[in-house]
Amino acid sequence: MSQSRVAYFYNADVGNFHYGPGHPMKPHRLAVTHSLVLHYGLHKKMQIYKPYQANAHDMCRFHSEDYIEFLQNVTPQNIQTYSKDLLHYNVGDDCPVFEGLFDFCSMYTGASLEGAMKLNNNVCDIAINWSGGLHHAKKFEPSAYSKDLLHYNVGDDCPVFEGLFDFCSMYTGASLEGAMKLNNNVCDIAINWSGGLHHAKKFEPSGFCYVNDIVIAILELLKHHPRVLYIDIDVHHGDGVQEAFYLTDRVMTVSFHKYGNYFFPGTGDMYEIGAESGRYFSVNVPLKEGIDDQSYVQVFKPVISNVMEFYRPTAIVLQCGADSLAGDRLGCFSLSTRGHGECVKFVKNLNVPTLVVGGGGYTLRNVARCWTYETSLLVDENISNELPYTEYLEFFAPDFQLHPEITRGHLICNQQVLGSNPDMYQCAFRFSIYICTLSDVLTMKEKRRDFFPEDYKIKEEPDPDVKMTQEEIDKFVEPKNEFYEDDKDNEKETVIEKKEP
Ligand SMILES: [Zn+2]
Repeated sequence: MSQSRVAYFYNADVGNFHYGPGHPMKPHRLAVTHSLVLHYGLHKKMQIYKPYQANAHDMCRFHSEDYIEFLQNVTPQNIQTYSKDLLHYNVGDDCPVFEGLFDFCSMYTGASLEGAMKLNNNVCDIAINWSGGLHHAKKFEPSAYSKDLLHYNVGDDCPVFEGLFDFCSMYTGASLEGAMKLNNNVCDIAINWSGGLHHAKKFEPSGFCYVNDIVIAILELLKHHPRVLYIDIDVHHGDGVQEAFYLTDRVMTVSFHKYGNYFFPGTGDMYEIGAESGRYFSVNVPLKEGIDDQSYVQVFKPVISNVMEFYRPTAIVLQCGADSLAGDRLGCFSLSTRGHGECVKFVKNLNVPTLVVGGGGYTLRNVARCWTYETSLLVDENISNELPYTEYLEFFAPDFQLHPEITRGHLICNQQVLGSNPDMYQCAFRFSIYICTLSDVLTMKEKRRDFFPEDYKIKEEPDPDVKMTQEEIDKFVEPKNEFYEDDKDNEKETVIEKKEP
């Protein structure tokens, strides 16, 4: 196999931003990663670029102008004035200011007040005012829900910090330039570890993500590519990207993530399959906490192989969120750097032009290890498990190794869910079946005219509000225990039940 031409984007300033004290997202991880990449000599195997910085116009390819203007102008100093009125009186989506607001309040309040008076004066036994009953309003502010009504959802998770817009420009510009270089066939693989902020929405930030560089890069790829495949191995569901392309078949999104127990962002159920033209083009692989290398890869490879065969993408975007590693501050999977890297290697070997981006990852030293190792895989270079000397060497104590051992501590949650491994197998099987079903559906669509006579009544389109038809759901119902690989699985479950408290 010929060597891939790899373009690597890094802006030395991107590691200097701070989300704020105590915030788990630390852009500094990018500087530590880059230092390891250099000290391993991996830069010699790639073209290194200081990336273009995206401007507001680039960002508005996906985001709303209002929102980007807000990001451009808001600072930690002026945020108070920005949101003062909105915040002060807590008005917003739930409690908007509308024409005649005061008159409306006068009317419903007057009626309740007069009712009370009439009861006091024994004019009636029961007073009815159906316009009243607005029981959430407080002494100083209206309130329907306790939810944060900050206009743009900025707050603890997505704080306004010094240089926020520059930070967004840098990581977005790098992904956009990566997509351009792929389009122009300047490289086969483009790497931007500062990108991958998959939660950002059109109108607001979400989950530490402000501008969705992935969506913007995919939009660029779509100028040259008929079909783009998005693969997401972050521990969290790639909701922002899925949402952006939910209605189109030009992008297929495939996300592997922890799902359940209100784990952020709460979406990514396997029944989210896309809608309208995009129906069947969103694939979600919900997993339980504690999944290890073996189970993960066992699910990842067949799903991606099936997707490749079925979808035949001409470009791929791979989001490598490192919060799916064992021991992540926010994650709950038990993947090793080798297991995580195995997925990257698998995608690389598909030999399709690929944009590789970062994403989550909150145990800094492991993020740096993981993305350095994955850089080495992408440039086909074997690197030593001994970390080279860098200014950050102390971060990697006590082992100073590229592949840290996964300690017992990291496996606690893994042990708790060993018994649910059969679910994982079930998941892999389900998805193989699911993808096959997709292929059938697509073939059917293409060949519909050949199959059915002119007067054949084509089945009514399913209700778009129902994510999957009953008929489709029925296809997933299998006999119980069918997917238990062998007796061992049941034993594992038994072991769990007998576990010491
Ligand atoms: Zn994440």
